[in-house]
Amino acid sequence: MSRIVQKFGGTSVKDPDHIRRVAEIVAKTYKQNKEVVVVVSAMGQSTDELIELALQADPNPEPRELDVLLATGEQVSIAMLAIALRSMGLKARSFTGPQAGILTDDAHGFARIKTVHPTRLESSLRKGEIPVVAGFQGMNRNSELTTLGRGGSDTTAVALAAALKAECCDIYTDVEGVYTTDPRTVQSARKLGVVSYQEMLALASAGAQVLNARSVELAMNNSVPIRLRSTFLPDNAGTLVTTKDIAPVQTVCGVACDASRVWVRVAFSQSFNADQSVGEFADNFSKQEDAVQQLLSALISLGIDKETVCLTRSNGINVSWLEFHCEKRLLREVQSLLTISTSNLPDLEFRIDSDLALVSLIGLGIDSDYRISDNLAKVIRKNTIPVLMQTHQELRSSVLIPGAFKEEAVRLVHDEFCSRSVEAESKLAKMELEAEERALRNVSTANTNNALMFVAELGVSTADALESKEASYQTETEAIR
Ligand code: ADP
Ligand code: ASP
Ligand code: MG
Repeated sequence: MSRIVQKFGGTSVKDPDHIRRVAEIVAKTYKQNKEVVVVVSAMGQSTDELIELALQADPNPEPRELDVLLATGEQVSIAMLAIALRSMGLKARSFTGPQAGILTDDAHGFARIKTVHPTRLESSLRKGEIPVVAGFQGMNRNSELTTLGRGGSDTTAVALAAALKAECCDIYTDVEGVYTTDPRTVQSARKLGVVSYQEMLALASAGAQVLNARSVELAMNNSVPIRLRSTFLPDNAGTLVTTKDIAPVQTVCGVACDASRVWVRVAFSQSFNADQSVGEFADNFSKQEDAVQQLLSALISLGIDKETVCLTRSNGINVSWLEFHCEKRLLREVQSLLTISTSNLPDLEFRIDSDLALVSLIGLGIDSDYRISDNLAKVIRKNTIPVLMQTHQELRSSVLIPGAFKEEAVRLVHDEFCSRSVEAESKLAKMELEAEERALRNVSTANTNNALMFVAELGVSTADALESKEASYQTETEAIR
């Protein structure tokens, strides 16, 4: 019997009517003689509402307690969907992340799944049940609840698909698939029939919210095919996310926008003092250089992207500049690191701006053709939008611009790089159909993963995996009691 994981996002389960619609999709798949494991997000905007609630109690809520609070959102959804499925005569059973065997590291609020021990899900499937699992949550070695970061239910779904050796992970959402850019911003955005893991990872990391970046990484490492489809038009094909050998090769595949970046600029000045000898001056200068390097290493350990760092030294005026952009969630830590550095380096000054947007062009051809990056900045500047920084990462060229221009910039870049002639459009549609056929032929080979391989890909050795398997069984029973 084939096995499938189906994940439904917040808008798909926003109220009891929507939950019944989801239950019908699940029931239809189950009646096609498939084993179905369902993953759900919190209803509608409830995660945002829970965060808001916590902030009313404390502007800096304790991360452990915040996780306990946020995990309740998904817990409401699993119970609601299981109730709806049971009312239709199906044997459904809800599971929290820990009950489903999802073991994470200790990073509250942004935890990474380390292993999955789906024993209880396997036995539920053997009984002919439909397990309904809470997305976005797991537990660490100490049985503490953890959450996986915003959009983390996608990662739960892919991790379960890998651990349960499912043939596919279907992610149902409120759009019909992955588009060349957010279809809510650009109406002419085109749905991609098939896209490679690499391109999807670059799109997701650059801010395309439609799939969580960690889920794509996990799917790529474990050869889990993802099918992104609409809850509201569930019979449509959606977008298949698969290997590079199967997906059609395109120079540029889309445009993404991330409006949650902060831009950090640090200046270190070493003013000239007439009483200093040349030796003293050189000594001070080299101390400053060491301090800059130390600060940079500390920032990189915090998780800022190395590729966005720009370090400029100007010996003429003895000032060094350090510039980078990073995710807003790191803001507090970056700020406190810079404040500590100010006490060691009195000449250090910094400025943080947060109303910015990073607009990125994604494609397999971007790394090999520098003219694409060049044209990206030109298109933006030509329309008098200031480019504050330009950075390059794998398959991706990005410009940092003031936030107020984000929609205009996305439209301009999309028009310039993603519009195609009718002829090119139909050629691409044909290539996508062929890719889908190749994917169907590949299903059996793509699905060779097993739980231990999954663990190994996550960077845990087999020995560690077996050991933590024991540990997690214990912690799981403790948690359930
Ligand atoms: P869910 O709640 O189902 O997880 P999300 O809100 O996380 O859904 O993701 C779906 C949203 O992603 C869409 O409503 C769309 O506005 C946005 N989006 C951003 N970029 C893209 C893209 N390239 N293709 C499709 N949707 C996109
Ligand atoms: N409910 C969580 C969030 O809103 C997780 C998810 O939706 O995937 O981020
Ligand atoms: Mg999402």
